[in-house]
Amino acid sequence: MKTAVVGFPRVGKNRELKFATEKYFKGEIGEQELLNEAAQIRKYNLSKENAAGIDYISSGDFSFYDGILDTAFALNVIPARYKALGLSNLDTYFAMARGYQGEKGNVKALAMKKWFNTNYHYLVPEIDDDTEVKLVGTKLFDEYDEALANGVLTKPVIAGPFTFLKLARFTGRKNIADYTDAFIKAYSEILVKVSEKNVKWIQFDEPFLVRDLTEDDKKTFVSLYEKILSSKGEVKVLLQTYFGDVRDIYSELTGLSFDGIGLDFVEGRKTLELVEKNGFPKDKILFAGVLNGKNIWRNNYKASLNVIGKLQTAGAENIVISTSCSLLHVPYTLESETKLTQEYIKHFSFAEEKLLELKELAVCADALAGDAYKELDIYKKNELLFTGRVNSADEKVQERVRNIKASDYTRLPEFAEREKIQKESFALPLFPTTTIGSFPQTADVKTERKLFRKGEISEEEYKTFVKKKIADCIKLQEEIGLDVLVHGEYERNDMVEYFGENLEGYLFTEKAWVQSYGTRCVKPPIIWGDVSRKKPITVEWSVYADSCTDKPVKGMLTGPVTILNWSFPREDISLKESTLQIALAIRDEVLDLEANGIKIIQIDEAALREKLPLRKSDWNSEYLDWAIPAFRLVQSGVKADTQIHTHMCYSEFTDIIPAIDAMDADVITFEASRSDLLILDSLKENNFKTEVGPGVYDIHSPRVPSVEEIVNALKLMREKLDDHKLWINPDCGLKTRGETETKASLINMVEAAKILRESV
Ligand code: GLN
Ligand code: ZN
Repeated sequence: MKTAVVGFPRVGKNRELKFATEKYFKGEIGEQELLNEAAQIRKYNLSKENAAGIDYISSGDFSFYDGILDTAFALNVIPARYKALGLSNLDTYFAMARGYQGEKGNVKALAMKKWFNTNYHYLVPEIDDDTEVKLVGTKLFDEYDEALANGVLTKPVIAGPFTFLKLARFTGRKNIADYTDAFIKAYSEILVKVSEKNVKWIQFDEPFLVRDLTEDDKKTFVSLYEKILSSKGEVKVLLQTYFGDVRDIYSELTGLSFDGIGLDFVEGRKTLELVEKNGFPKDKILFAGVLNGKNIWRNNYKASLNVIGKLQTAGAENIVISTSCSLLHVPYTLESETKLTQEYIKHFSFAEEKLLELKELAVCADALAGDAYKELDIYKKNELLFTGRVNSADEKVQERVRNIKASDYTRLPEFAEREKIQKESFALPLFPTTTIGSFPQTADVKTERKLFRKGEISEEEYKTFVKKKIADCIKLQEEIGLDVLVHGEYERNDMVEYFGENLEGYLFTEKAWVQSYGTRCVKPPIIWGDVSRKKPITVEWSVYADSCTDKPVKGMLTGPVTILNWSFPREDISLKESTLQIALAIRDEVLDLEANGIKIIQIDEAALREKLPLRKSDWNSEYLDWAIPAFRLVQSGVKADTQIHTHMCYSEFTDIIPAIDAMDADVITFEASRSDLLILDSLKENNFKTEVGPGVYDIHSPRVPSVEEIVNALKLMREKLDDHKLWINPDCGLKTRGETETKASLINMVEAAKILRESV
């Protein structure tokens, strides 16, 4: 059996691309140096894939920033404002990716959005009425040629026209239908070009097919490919899907003249069922994505072989073993991890290790007949990993989860009564002002943390430093005149890592970086075992902050769903069970804060929406039905006069407003300043009961908002929300901002609140 890889990480084993690109941005290296670094990375990737003996290796999966942006660039979907800058090709590309501010002009970047249900972000192509779609880029062909020159025959890969069109933003009056012909022409031209080069296979990525599709969508897809495929000549076309199953379009998909179809058997809950029910055409190759491209655990060969066996029984005669999606979403290699012992390492598989797993699976698959594979050493070794794994089981934690009662998910008294009690006990002014939690993480904060980590200053010295920062931060907030204060979060680097480090059951890596967007990478911690809290985490800081002022200070925690969504989750228990374990740990922290006199506690769920299923029909049953209760479990134990806040950002909420209300927090703050305040309508329509602080200014930019601007934003909010429910705050934490602009912005915000109060 042959093997294939959908795509490979491209930041470089040691994030070489990130560092080179950032140097290029700063003008420290020139274009040629950056291009050389990129070529080295591609060469390294190819050599690894080739050495592992992978049969279908991708080229064109490299990117300086993002694959959708690459496709836009290749198809001349380049808005005029970027062309007008008159920059080099590469700099025009980067201007689209991150904006440009300099002697040639001042333009904002294209919008950036989360890539399906991952933590990777793509750039949203913009198509206006004057966009002239045509094949202008040569990246796809150049990288194929380069790979060939390096001795590797590859399948070039590019985003398919359907997904591209569905993700694009149409800014004029034209729409998808007006552009299908141009896309057919451009993609046909790609096929003609690769045929001329004697390319054997080309891969079109169409992940949009795993979403809910309308009749129109299906028609668009079919009419695009019917015509495009008529140009394919000798080249074979692989239509690759990932992140779910293609239940809405399976028969149309298998009916078209593709030569191979890539399906996801990991996240695609119905993929196997689809093939079993409908069969698979004998003249096509099924690229079976049985190896998880998103998580870092070893593949369970028994389970994968079981799927392959069933596919064969269902009539799929030509199978290639593949990854479920691009390996872009996992780190490079375990070789970089020097601190984790073999005990742990043997359970993990990063991109390079996954190549070997593919090969081993292929060997086992060849021995499927008569169960001969069971005698293979590679199989036995793999089987042992799963029979032997105890995953630091903690009986007590498991029992606690088993003993959760239905009533533990409900906070009493109910909202309206609590609201009354809290209005009286806090006696805050109308339109209370607050912030989201963090204050600027200035250079001194980062330096002290580093010194402490390296052991160059003692814990006492570090604590004294953090406390001084907290005291100053409280003083500043009092001066500014804010109503509900925060301690500033100086003790944390990151809202998830900080809690992970203080929880039992978590593992940390050294170099397991994954691209989030452009040059930004994240290093998600690994949930290794049953999670529990070792000891109080934030209590000391919050209590100290509280002692510095007479005003209320919010305790600041990260919620269970966000902690889970920004970690590599376990595969041996359900996400629900893991989340409940985390929820119980954070619940303990909430109760400790309350017992120590903290009257307002914020539990951030910044990433709540992240793992929302791609299909609406799965939203409740697959996710919200446990994610929302997990949040309720965290806070249900507090007294009526303890106020629970939550905060959300980075995404659209308009469509899950009822679920957010069902979290049953007392106050929610969220990012609204950039989403056109559309969310306000949705709050009104849904009779949102929770008190709410839609961000009144955008903290992602250093700009200081004027008093007038904030007053205007607030006026709009007052049209849709009851006065006594409205809070005033920035749209997210201030950690990445400078001190000067932060102070100036908050002063204006408090001034706006005063003006508003006077006008009532
Ligand atoms: N409390 C966190 C902060 O203020 C929230 C961060 C976030 O929403 N991403 O930084
Ligand atoms: Zn936020």
